[in-house]
Amino acid sequence: MLSYKAPIADIKFLIEDVFDYYGHYQKYPEFVEATPDLNDAILQECAKFCENELLPLYQSGDKEGCTFNNGAVTTPKGFKEAYNKYVEGGWQSLSHPIEHGGQGLPPSLGMAKSEMMGTANWSWAMYPGLSHGAMNTVQSHGSEAQKELYLTRLTEGSWTGTMCLTEPQCGTDLGQVKTKAEPNEDGTYNITGTKIFISAGEHDLTENIIHIVLARLPNAPAGTRGISLFIVPKVKTDAQGNLGESNHVTCGSIEDKMGIKASATAVLNFDNAVGELIGPEHKGLECMFTFMNTARVGTALQGVCTAELAYQNSLIYAKERLSMRSLTGKKFPEQVADPIIVHPDVRKMLMTQKAISEGGRAMIYYTAKIVDEIEMAKTDAEKEAADERLGFITPILKAFLTELGSESANHGLQIFGGHGFIKEWGMEQIVRDARIATLYEGTTGIQALDLLGRKILLTRGKSLKAFTKEILTFCKDKSMISQSPHKRQMNKFIWPLSKATANWQQYSLRLALKAKKDRDIIGSASVDYLMFSGYIVMAYFWAQMAQAAYEKLATDVENRDFYRAKIKTAEFYFERMLPRTKSLAKTMMADPKTLMQLDQELLSFL
Ligand SMILES: Cc1cc2nc3c(=O)[nH]c(=O)nc-3n(C[C@H](O)[C@H](O)[C@H](O)COP(=O)(O)OP(=O)(O)OC[C@H]3O[C@@H](n4cnc5c(N)ncnc54)[C@H](O)[C@@H]3O)c2cc1C
Repeated sequence: MLSYKAPIADIKFLIEDVFDYYGHYQKYPEFVEATPDLNDAILQECAKFCENELLPLYQSGDKEGCTFNNGAVTTPKGFKEAYNKYVEGGWQSLSHPIEHGGQGLPPSLGMAKSEMMGTANWSWAMYPGLSHGAMNTVQSHGSEAQKELYLTRLTEGSWTGTMCLTEPQCGTDLGQVKTKAEPNEDGTYNITGTKIFISAGEHDLTENIIHIVLARLPNAPAGTRGISLFIVPKVKTDAQGNLGESNHVTCGSIEDKMGIKASATAVLNFDNAVGELIGPEHKGLECMFTFMNTARVGTALQGVCTAELAYQNSLIYAKERLSMRSLTGKKFPEQVADPIIVHPDVRKMLMTQKAISEGGRAMIYYTAKIVDEIEMAKTDAEKEAADERLGFITPILKAFLTELGSESANHGLQIFGGHGFIKEWGMEQIVRDARIATLYEGTTGIQALDLLGRKILLTRGKSLKAFTKEILTFCKDKSMISQSPHKRQMNKFIWPLSKATANWQQYSLRLALKAKKDRDIIGSASVDYLMFSGYIVMAYFWAQMAQAAYEKLATDVENRDFYRAKIKTAEFYFERMLPRTKSLAKTMMADPKTLMQLDQELLSFL
């Protein structure tokens, strides 16, 4: 049986000591309620719910999976009861606006809740998680009447939401969407088409499901410029939200998948289902993009959740499993053998997992502050600036953290040896569940093209310049010129970080120059470039954590071991993970020729 304890000390370290959330909240009168006392109480309560209610359903949910019977989907035993408790506890409404029944707390505090729930049981957490996406879309682009009707129910959790983009012929290339929207005289639309892979598309947790659907109006231009967005409820309602007849959205089947088996992935058939337009005609994809960045941060979080769950369980096992003796002599002579944690190779895997989960969490909690800024922006210029920062960091977070989440899950399985391959221990489930995160919400390859193509080359590196300036300012501020002893200790992080950041700028420029001569370099370099960028971004946050830990060491004597552990992990990261950038730099600069020169007919002689 897997275990999970919410890492409250690590979360509080980030919130209080590294990112100063409470100072940040003071900028916004709307967040006056977000005090340390309230937040501590929320973290404690959430931890109890996750450890006691959600974790016990993680492995049983995988074993049982969802069942499909004649259009109806039943979630695994215990899921509905846990969902009801979640709604009763007011968890869904935590960080949503007060005017539609929310508690008005900052989105950044909601991130801690999502992290704990996602780590305890990702499949379960997807049901309320998808609702957040639908809610954000209605909040940003819906009319007042749509907000009143749909947001209120979604916020209280009595209905859930979905995002219906993918169709059989297209997932990445949404320009190929075929679902049709025919206008009715009363201003509604009849939606007809098939959507596949719809998470939480059908289930037994709530009485209604609100689908946010991409579809084409008659005579819409071809491609992405002709797609509009619609709200389509599973069950029709009146203006007060009283349920009426079925809206002709039927579930054709659910997928039999590699992982996240307790999360229903539905084929949905829309057969003249009545929908309402949300946002302007033909601007559906643009409307979705506002929401997609936040949804992608949510998926990036899956990487951290996976890394944390795998690490916590690997650590317990590595302390208990006995095998041979330490290379430097017996460490536990009273036992028949030493625990595997004494072996450097096992340590390397554990430290890698620890660096990924804590470094990844820092990347997410930094970004959550930007999400607050977007929500609280008072002017278009403020919103645009925050949107641009989020848009730049999102593909890095999404692809880098989900790839590293998978790496951590695999290290976990390896630490368990042959037992890792056996279902009972739960490690193979973590590997299977982690894998989807690199695929949905835009694959790693697509995130990488977005980063290098759209966010770097198309903007002539505008956001990169701003972000690298932020890192270099941090480096300058913490450099050895300072008299303070902990600042001198920081030099072991500051020099390599400054150097890597300067390299990031230079390689970006060199790639831009190469791309002028050969467009294929964008595609051949992009994934390596994204991973290269990710390691530097993570190094920045490990340096910040080390900095905060040195400061706390001087004042907080009670928790010295905690801060020392942060510094030692930062040292590990800089010595054993940041150097991965060297190999990535080499491969990303390589000529695309070796990828493309072999004629596709010659790729196999079968
Ligand atoms: C469990 C699960 C849950 C999902 N949940 C949802 C959901 O709730 N709502 C929803 O709408 N969708 C959902 N999806 C769909 C998911 O977002 C898509 O599967 C994903 O975006 C990839 O699309 P695709 O499967 O069509 O792959 P394709 O687009 O066919 O891509 C195949 C491969 O080609 C690569 N590729 C494609 N185009 C390019 C290019 N131009 N350059 C370089 N490489 C390229 C891709 O990176 C990938 O490796 C879900 C999928 C799964 C499996």
